[in-house]
Amino acid sequence: MGKQNEPVRVCYIASSSHSGTTILSRYLCKEKGFLSLGEIHLTWLKYLSDKDVLMKEICSCGQSAASCNFWSEIFSIWNLNHGLQNAYSELVKFCMNQYPEFTIVDSSKYIKGISPWMEFENVDLRVIHLVKDVRNYTVSQIDNALKKGVRRKLPGFRHHFFWWQQHQRLIKFLNDNQLNSILMSYEKWAIEPTFMFLNKVNGLNNPLNIINPKKADSVHHILTGNNSRLTSDIDRIVYDYRWFHRNEWLLAYLLMGPIRKFNTEIIKNEET
Ligand SMILES: [Zn+2]
Repeated sequence: MGKQNEPVRVCYIASSSHSGTTILSRYLCKEKGFLSLGEIHLTWLKYLSDKDVLMKEICSCGQSAASCNFWSEIFSIWNLNHGLQNAYSELVKFCMNQYPEFTIVDSSKYIKGISPWMEFENVDLRVIHLVKDVRNYTVSQIDNALKKGVRRKLPGFRHHFFWWQQHQRLIKFLNDNQLNSILMSYEKWAIEPTFMFLNKVNGLNNPLNIINPKKADSVHHILTGNNSRLTSDIDRIVYDYRWFHRNEWLLAYLLMGPIRKFNTEIIKNEET
């Protein structure tokens, strides 16, 4: 069992959709002492709504959920009738028992995934607020929608607005609740990950200060998230520059001044 006064250590990756949260949660496992569990909130929702499908999903450890030695244990403890908060408590109990002093990495992204952690009395919650450049985000969203056969009018404006709204809400939530958080540019990290991490480790109040280098190697059991969770070589992060040669974002970026300013500020933040 974990020591009684030991806090639950959680590193939460907050962001909008398709913004690199899954690959970042895998990447954190290059450091010692992390237990990356993917989108815990979504895992619970899938457990609630379609357990049979969830059991067939492949975990980042290479096993199906039904055979994964982490999630199969959790699913045997979780009780559908006891609700979300109880599921989180059971998960924490299991983690503190099996992986004492590890930091749980939860890449649930959205505000609703942060709230269950705030219910714990003794929690050391750090939030990495990951922001992908709005132009890259816009092209990703358009391409994902096209894969699903969805075409919309003025998609550039639409995605710029959603991006801005999601990040503004996140910033307000983090500020209102005085959570310990840092803003992190996806592009800066993906293009120059080593520099990025050294920079962050040297900063104050940052989520990576919870790393204890004496801890054991990290462990990942990422069941929900995109296919990057299954990557075998985390050292080869390839940044997708295709948005640079596209123009769907151009008009929205030029005309939506506050959004352009916010986007620029995030990149500037990273340079200081
Ligand atoms: Zn697993």
